[in-house]
Amino acid sequence: MADPSQDATVASWVRQHGTLARFDLEIALCHILDCSRAHLLTHPDRALNQPELAQLERWSDQLYKHVPIAYLCGNQEFWGLSLTVDHRVLVPRPDTETLVEQTLACMAQQDPSPSTGTALRLLDLGTGSGAIALALASERPDADVHACDCSLDSLAVARENSRSLRLPVTLHHSDWFDNISQRYDLIVSNPPYIAPSDPHLDLLGAEPAHALVADDNGLADLRTICEQAGRFLQTNGWLLLEHGFDQAEAVRSLLSNNGFIDVQSRRDLGGNERVTWGQKPSDQALSAHE
Ligand code: GLN
Repeated sequence: MADPSQDATVASWVRQHGTLARFDLEIALCHILDCSRAHLLTHPDRALNQPELAQLERWSDQLYKHVPIAYLCGNQEFWGLSLTVDHRVLVPRPDTETLVEQTLACMAQQDPSPSTGTALRLLDLGTGSGAIALALASERPDADVHACDCSLDSLAVARENSRSLRLPVTLHHSDWFDNISQRYDLIVSNPPYIAPSDPHLDLLGAEPAHALVADDNGLADLRTICEQAGRFLQTNGWLLLEHGFDQAEAVRSLLSNNGFIDVQSRRDLGGNERVTWGQKPSDQALSAHE
């Protein structure tokens, strides 16, 4: 019988899986053939041997089941950092870099900490792989970066990333603010915000649902955070939130209704309002809203 791998090449394998995302196929090929993307693109006739083809087919089977390519490779680039990721954590999305950018802009306005005159203290709520906290720690080694998650599995991944990237982050096991006792100059979060009925969830089934889905049309966790964050922020501290493409107005209301001032939103690279933030006035002004 003819060997099925005999004529298999990079180009024929990509053609054969034309319904999968081209970028995912290229990442799979680079990883399994241990070559650069440039090499791949300039050598489409590179033959695939039997073991290579077998592994590529195992991976494409997973891609058809919507397993993210990042889980297959075991890592994902975010803010120029290579993060270890697996089924325990949400894969960091490029949209979330918008949240990092805006947080850095708010940090620049706050320098040095208005409350203590010392290092700015920052908390990333629901850190997952640690992406946001680690990106901020990489840009601002002078800041005191903390992060929490309700999942011990996520914290294990974040700890591994913090160690391997040599970026110190203090990790807390906490469901939102339940085990948080200190105050911060900035609180940032990319909480779950997808409505349970959203059809996109079918494509995200390999990722932890608790990191993606929130009740109340996706707003339940955003609401909890907006209601509680004031007590964990210093005066003039910022709360910055990522949210769904159609939730900016709702999140602006949540922030304003909970006493935050200077509430603004910012678009991601896809043009959707993706990040909304506000500043905490003094405790007295905030509690007047309660
Ligand atoms: N931005 C992610 C997505 O739509 C969702 C992340 C989240 O719920 N925080 O795939």
